[in-house]
Amino acid sequence: EDSTSRSTKKKVVAVVGGGLVGALNACFLAKRGFDVEVFETREDIRKAQIVRGRSINLALSHRGRQALRHVGMEEKIVSQGIPMHARMIHSLSGKQSPIPYGKKGQYILSVDRANLNKQLLSEADTYPNTKLNFDHKLHDWSAETGMMTFVRPDGSKVQLKADLIVGCDGAFSATRKQFLRRSRFNYSQTYIPHGYMELTMPPVNGEFAMKPNYLHIWPRNTFMMIALPNLDKTFTCTLFMPFEDFEKIATGDEVIEFFQKYFPDAIPLIGEEALRRDYFRLPAQAMVSVKCSPYHIHDKCVLMGDAAHAVVPFYGQGMNAGFEDCIVFDEVLDRFSEDLGAVLPEYSRVRVPDDHAIADLAMYNYIEMRAHVNSKWFLFRKHVDNVLHFLMPKTIIPLYTMVTFTRTRYHEAVQRWHWQNKVVNRGLLLSATGAAVGGSYLLLKNPPDVNKLLLSVEKIWTRLVTK
Ligand code: FAD
Repeated sequence: EDSTSRSTKKKVVAVVGGGLVGALNACFLAKRGFDVEVFETREDIRKAQIVRGRSINLALSHRGRQALRHVGMEEKIVSQGIPMHARMIHSLSGKQSPIPYGKKGQYILSVDRANLNKQLLSEADTYPNTKLNFDHKLHDWSAETGMMTFVRPDGSKVQLKADLIVGCDGAFSATRKQFLRRSRFNYSQTYIPHGYMELTMPPVNGEFAMKPNYLHIWPRNTFMMIALPNLDKTFTCTLFMPFEDFEKIATGDEVIEFFQKYFPDAIPLIGEEALRRDYFRLPAQAMVSVKCSPYHIHDKCVLMGDAAHAVVPFYGQGMNAGFEDCIVFDEVLDRFSEDLGAVLPEYSRVRVPDDHAIADLAMYNYIEMRAHVNSKWFLFRKHVDNVLHFLMPKTIIPLYTMVTFTRTRYHEAVQRWHWQNKVVNRGLLLSATGAAVGGSYLLLKNPPDVNKLLLSVEKIWTRLVTK
């Protein structure tokens, strides 16, 4: 270790936001030996009575788990999650059909947001070089000096200077405001027409009301409902629907009428009385997609998590991407020996294309989840991809698998997906023609040897694929 890197270790790093990404990032940065100060608007949620958050539970997958592993938290969090091996599609008639997420043994986990956040804060708290400052709301900061101003609940102001400011303050980031004033900063935000509303499905005789190890989906084309299991044997149902449809429903009777028409099997499980009441408890919440670049200002400030890339929740990757941000930043810190003047631009360079790719994919899945899963062609193509993946695990990898069960860079997963689609569609066309012409002839001449057949299929594919 040279002296410059040793001297940078004493640097003060301010993490703005003690949400999921901020709390995890504090652990990453503390582990490196920085002096870490976390500033969070809210009170300490570990002591608070009611925690108001966004969704009640979330799907944790490979990228998020890898990040947790870096700070020794994977086992603990996974043991408190509920594995979901497949989607369970509920048809209008109440029929349930599973669509696996990947191969046998591959699953995503339903985890409790509040509990995860609390555990991460407690973990950050175990580092002697970390200080958690609750009830500190970032008001403003200076890109020139690194001086930050915080507002306390009593209206008083506190100022503090840091060598590096890491903005993890979510989709409506106050840290990001400084970026918007600068030249050559790209920024876009889009609200989708849908809102979401959460409803609880209680246990039945102390047991889960539906099969627990699934992510339940009621796809209804222009809208949908999903349900994720919780440790207390409840399900959290989330209804995604255009705001104008939410607003059309004004009375308890209209709620029941609507559910009778579209989610009849869910009425007895949520309970008619609860449904009438809970639908009006909170208004539907908005969903925003935020894209920007670059993610840094000089060697002073960097944005991560939703502050850099809020995505719509339809790929279950928002938190996972934010957690992966922490790994990527950590890797770049290593590569450039913590020289922040080199680290920050490099972080923007490598991470922007990936976070933009997952934002686009999430937007794409917004349609896929509620509409495409109802289409025969879509299900057929999913099946073909899965079979091909089974036959040629290194050549054809379903997009969902790359995104959810690997750390393939998001933008590479997208490129590969486009290429695979071209190849598979071409292959399907060829096979259809070929099968019609040659298949019948061959079958008549000599009975098929399955192994040989598979080998020649593989050969043809490999040829198609390498073209
Ligand atoms: P946040 O969780 O928003 O945390 C930001 C923190 O900063 C908060 O604690 C806030 O109080 C604090 N803060 C804000 N402003 C200031 C300020 N001025 N000063 C100090 N502190 C401040 N992701 C998944 O991976 N899987 C899923 O299944 C999934 N499901 C979702 C479902 C829904 C309905 C929604 C809305 C999102 C879902 N997400 C999911 C996305 C996930 O919630 C986010 O990506 C994740 O919470 C981002 O974490 P964050 O720490 O960047 O931001």
